[in-house]
Amino acid sequence: MSDRQQKNSSTRTVNNLDDLPSPYLSGVFDLSEVKSVEIIMARGCSQNCSYCAIHESPLRYFSFERIRDEINYIADHAPHLKEILVTVADMYENVPLGEKVLPLLKKLAEERKIRVLFYVNVSTLSHDSVVRLSDCEYFDVEVGIQSLNPSVLTTCHRLPDPEKIKYNVAHLQQLAPRASIYLGLIAFLPGDTQESYWATLDWAISTRANVSVNHLRIIPGTELYDRCTARGIKVSPDYPYFVTATDKMNEEEVFSVSRLTTQIFFTLKAVSQSPFLNEEFFKLAAASKKKNPHTALAAMLARLWIKNTETVKIFEAFVRGFEQTKSLDHDLRTNYISPEDIACLEEKYRLFKPYLSK
Ligand code: SF4
Repeated sequence: MSDRQQKNSSTRTVNNLDDLPSPYLSGVFDLSEVKSVEIIMARGCSQNCSYCAIHESPLRYFSFERIRDEINYIADHAPHLKEILVTVADMYENVPLGEKVLPLLKKLAEERKIRVLFYVNVSTLSHDSVVRLSDCEYFDVEVGIQSLNPSVLTTCHRLPDPEKIKYNVAHLQQLAPRASIYLGLIAFLPGDTQESYWATLDWAISTRANVSVNHLRIIPGTELYDRCTARGIKVSPDYPYFVTATDKMNEEEVFSVSRLTTQIFFTLKAVSQSPFLNEEFFKLAAASKKKNPHTALAAMLARLWIKNTETVKIFEAFVRGFEQTKSLDHDLRTNYISPEDIACLEEKYRLFKPYLSK
């Protein structure tokens, strides 16, 4: 341990987080070359999602003064900074604190072109005063949706109201139009059928926000872990404890839903990188009479690209990139497709288009 490092020897819950030494303000970190930092605003959580362990400790915040001093220290000592992750379960829950912290982050982000990522809970998107302060082109606002199936949401102890969730997301997009919104879903939750999973994914894509799908992990010690055997849920025995079968989907179905999700994300990735494909995709989906028009179109388009001898190579490279992450999660922020490959996908799309609208 260096002279500047300080040790927390106590295992008790710390009520006043400011009692904890700050690694930034203590000068422990050399920030001269770092591109990415994490600012911890709070510990614990006030919610009790059944798949999560963070709420095992109560929600506590650092003071505004401590957070402000860390932001200023980082700004002064990290000349190459590109990205800040703000760790807090819900940026909008503590309105007075959010109202002070967000303007500071926004100023730094705009002056230095730094991306700032933070999480919010879908139930607090009606806290208008603080939501408005997120309207910054450098902010990535991640909203946990998980599912639109009310019984699944009830099992997870999440807001079990799909209409309210949809309304709140539209409200966020309206109050913070310049922010990048990320909607996080979880696949293979207990009670989620294939039908409700595809309906949730279809709605999420239709919002035109960025979408990610996390493959459910059931962590030992969580409420869900204790209940999963009784519901016939199977979990891989080792970390990261991915679910392999649920009470509604057997192992083969979990595998095939996951594989189809990968194909859909290939299309979504191409659509997110190509303004031409983006416009075409949402125009065709809006005109489609199919159930779940966005997922159906994305899957069909992916299948056509996979059948073509040139574009299948782009798909295979995409899958290899996905496999290298050693995760089953799908996230549009990974797996960049090169401009040449996007041009090739666009060219083949023009050939496929007559078949897509049938
Ligand atoms: S998933 Fe998020 S909101 Fe739910 S308990 Fe965990 S940290 Fe809190």
